[in-house]
Amino acid sequence: MAVSLDTSQMRAARATARPQPTPMAANAPAHTEAEEKPSLVSRSREELGNALMHIGVPEKQVRMRVAQLWHWIYVRGFTDFDRMTNVSKDLRQRLANTFTLARPELVTEQISNDGTRKWLLRFPSRGAGRPVEIETVYVPEEGRGTLCVSSQVGCTLTCTFCHTGTQTLVRNLTSEEIIAQIMVARDRLGDFPDAYTPQGAIVPNEGRMVSNVVMMGMGEPLYNFNEVKKALLIASDGEGLSLSKRRITLSTSGVVPMIARAGEEIGCMLAISLHAVRDELRNKLVPINKKYPLNELLDACRSYPGLSNAKRITFEYVMLKDVNDSLDDAKELVRLLKGMPAKINLIPFNPWPGSPYDCSEWEQIEIFADYVNRAGYASPIRTPRGRDISAACGQLKSESERLRRAEREKLEGISHGD
Ligand code: SAH
Ligand code: SF4
Repeated sequence: MAVSLDTSQMRAARATARPQPTPMAANAPAHTEAEEKPSLVSRSREELGNALMHIGVPEKQVRMRVAQLWHWIYVRGFTDFDRMTNVSKDLRQRLANTFTLARPELVTEQISNDGTRKWLLRFPSRGAGRPVEIETVYVPEEGRGTLCVSSQVGCTLTCTFCHTGTQTLVRNLTSEEIIAQIMVARDRLGDFPDAYTPQGAIVPNEGRMVSNVVMMGMGEPLYNFNEVKKALLIASDGEGLSLSKRRITLSTSGVVPMIARAGEEIGCMLAISLHAVRDELRNKLVPINKKYPLNELLDACRSYPGLSNAKRITFEYVMLKDVNDSLDDAKELVRLLKGMPAKINLIPFNPWPGSPYDCSEWEQIEIFADYVNRAGYASPIRTPRGRDISAACGQLKSESERLRRAEREKLEGISHGD
């Protein structure tokens, strides 16, 4: 049976748990005082340096102090300035008075039978409106632990097989909120030094618990490029969270003009939500195809910076019964990808309430996979994970809604007079 805890249950559980060396800050009730202070999480080194100068750190000390803070925040996962033992007491106090490292509010944690975890996080509204909620999913496997991170609350796109696509975009996440998803996951899994992993948790048999990050949660990351870039550069910083760029994958539905920039400026692995091999069908399944059709998308992929046999593009292909799963489709797929270092992830369709498709028959998925495989492309069939807690690909959605214009304006106290 899947386990689901809400905040009050988590608080109760915490009260009976043994003391943890790293505070489970994500568990803590939202701290209003801390919330009002700006966070130091996800600032660039330069921004962090400016923040330090702002509270009186002499310029010649700034570099050293930034390095110290960087270590405590990202390597150790501290949320309490007072634990930063190589920072003077006086400076720790000034930092605590002015800034926060608090994690966002964790609304619920759900744990699937197969060890997949889904967290519902709440962030402030940032502007008018209500606070927003997003989902982050952790998928443990034998040799790796993959965190599926959201980039937006909802999505502007409306891919017909995707649950997130039924939630209109509420807002982009900030880099701080993107990094916070990684921090919360590491807190909850005890993935910081000297932290405990919860008893019975299913985690990889060796190495880090969060070893991989995929931008495959809610939203289209290339429609929130600057914040996603900032967050991923911090996630891959070798003196901090230290996730190798080979272990970070950005998935896009095909925002062609941004693909080269993702390669040049972020340098992570690329995944494309392909799902159809003919424009006519792709226009329906992935409507952004009407703007950037298959030939433009595949051209952008062929010139993805750093593309090689060691750095292949992953093409995601959701298996929809009698829609895109014929042998002819498999043949066309191989033809389209000819000569490109690629791997194809076949994703059995994950249903959601009211979804208009069925998942392909298993034998059909195998026929498809065999053809693609024999043509020389790795084509693993992704085992659905966390379906019992609606954590599988394409099942994420939150209740956050965009306010109607009139409601927003009321909250903002704006009157346009039009
Ligand atoms: N917006 C980006 C990132 C989301 S990734 C993108 O579309 O690439 C989520 C992945 O799950 C995408 O490949 C998406 O196409 C796929 N997906 C969406 N709905 C799904 C469903 N119901 N079943 C299986 N996969 C789905
Ligand atoms: Fe948005 Fe990606 Fe879902 Fe399409 S598949 S609606 S781009 S999240």
